[in-house]
Amino acid sequence: MAGISIAVIGGGASAVCLIDALAREQAGPGTITVFEPSPNLWRGRAYQVDTEVIKVNATPDDMSVRVGDLRHFERWLEIRERIVDDGGSTDPYSGARFVPRTVYGEYLEQSAYAALGELRRRGWRVDLVGTAVVGARRTAGSVLLDTDNGTAGAFDYAVLCVGGDGPKDAYGLAGAPGFVADPYPVSAGLGDVGEREHVAIIGSGLTAVDIILYFAEHGHQGPITLLSRKGVLPAVRQRPMEIHLNHLAKDRVRALARRRREMPMEEFGALVRAELADAGADLDALHAEIAGIEDEPPVERLRRHFAAVNSPDPGLRILQRAVPEIGPDVWPLLPERDRAQVLRSHYRTVMSLCCPMPPGSAARLLTLIEAGQLEIRSGLQKIAVRSGGGFEVATSDGEVFAVDTVVNAVNAAEDRIPAAAVPLVNSLVGGGAAARHPHGGLRLERATSRLIAGGTPDPRLYGLGTIGAGSLFFTFGIPSLVDRSEDIVAAILRHAEARTAAHSEEVLLPA
Ligand SMILES: Cc1cc2nc3c(=O)[nH]c(=O)nc-3n(C[C@H](O)[C@H](O)[C@H](O)COP(=O)(O)OP(=O)(O)OC[C@H]3O[C@@H](n4cnc5c(N)ncnc54)[C@H](O)[C@@H]3O)c2cc1C
Repeated sequence: MAGISIAVIGGGASAVCLIDALAREQAGPGTITVFEPSPNLWRGRAYQVDTEVIKVNATPDDMSVRVGDLRHFERWLEIRERIVDDGGSTDPYSGARFVPRTVYGEYLEQSAYAALGELRRRGWRVDLVGTAVVGARRTAGSVLLDTDNGTAGAFDYAVLCVGGDGPKDAYGLAGAPGFVADPYPVSAGLGDVGEREHVAIIGSGLTAVDIILYFAEHGHQGPITLLSRKGVLPAVRQRPMEIHLNHLAKDRVRALARRRREMPMEEFGALVRAELADAGADLDALHAEIAGIEDEPPVERLRRHFAAVNSPDPGLRILQRAVPEIGPDVWPLLPERDRAQVLRSHYRTVMSLCCPMPPGSAARLLTLIEAGQLEIRSGLQKIAVRSGGGFEVATSDGEVFAVDTVVNAVNAAEDRIPAAAVPLVNSLVGGGAAARHPHGGLRLERATSRLIAGGTPDPRLYGLGTIGAGSLFFTFGIPSLVDRSEDIVAAILRHAEARTAAHSEEVLLPA
């Protein structure tokens, strides 16, 4: 195969999974160029250098970046722990390990450099560029990229690994004194908050939990109020259990997705029910869990979930395994009407149940609630800046109260394009090389993650991570990044081999 050039746009966990997948193949040599403007090369937004208090929310097998090797991260941890104390990452309630996110960032860094080292050993040239890509154009046989400094040249392939956005400013508070617009890294973002201040956190997802854990660890004395519209917290992860998926097994679902163009929701529902029934799961309990999510008071739900950490019922564990594993393959097969309905009515439920917090985090929250320091309130209507300093909060039950500091933990905007990637995405879409997906991000093909423009997948342009979340669903967890990386590397190498065999891509393949 002739030398190929691959541009990786964005240097977070997606880029690491992709580079590791490439290094496992005996392809090349070629050139790989990674563009990353932030100081968080390889760590991205989630795994920046930060306090050890905030943890990943999954066990080490689900955090491995290596295709087909679920123990890759665990082995790295074992080696690290010969030198460095593990810092108590074993959860006392479930026996599972939840590693500090900053430590996981170290693993990402070392995995990236090990993979790049392997590629260099085999003759690949590696370029790391510290600028953002602000534009991209397709020519007959390449992708031309522009950065802030001018043109970055032509590449055979480009993979957009630009991640998701920070929290959105849903209440127009940007620039107000006492408003923390983006809490990460929390050790810098929250370090100036006075220990007796009344802190309001907007949002009730995993970011909100991180912020509470930070304040608890740093001995915050003042009240903490968690504010959101619905008050739906992440569920609590249960003690790990061996789960063998059968009806929903990844290989089976992928084979089905290759054969079929559509799958009625009823048929998918039947597969889910068969999987749960075969495993002896309590279907009524699961149904009640899903149906009652917005009706159950948040603290009661948190207590109930915490009490069920050792539950023998496999139902939730099956969902938590199956959704990230097969979600991206099943999603494009479902009728558009049903996909829109899931996003409108059940997205919050799926995220809460399938991205649960570690039990240790739940225990910490409950201790603060019991002590009267933490309050969880739903029905948030308005937050306004007060003329004398601080903020005024109004809730739907008519109550109005003052807080000193507001920390933003609201989910990112629905279009799923991070601000730093908007010029790039606009140039691709404007030039007809990509198309936005109505559910966010860009249109891309299920089996290869090739970007689709005018209904045709482009063999030179790919999307990995959140940018595919509208097309494929649940594309941002590490297991999904690993699976999609394998697809992308296979698609690139297949295309490159076909070009080499034909000596001229123009003769055999459309550009
Ligand atoms: C706070 C937080 C905690 C999380 N915890 C977990 C967890 O415990 N387990 C789990 O499985 N998942 C977790 N996730 C999901 C997470 O999104 C993925 O695990 C993973 O970090 C996604 O990596 P990424 O590379 O796609 O995106 P990112 O990490 O966001 O990296 C994207 C990179 O692209 C760069 N970029 C953007 N635009 C451009 C441009 N135009 N040119 C060049 N570079 C650009 C950005 O600077 C950024 O560094 C978490 C997410 C967040 C936000």
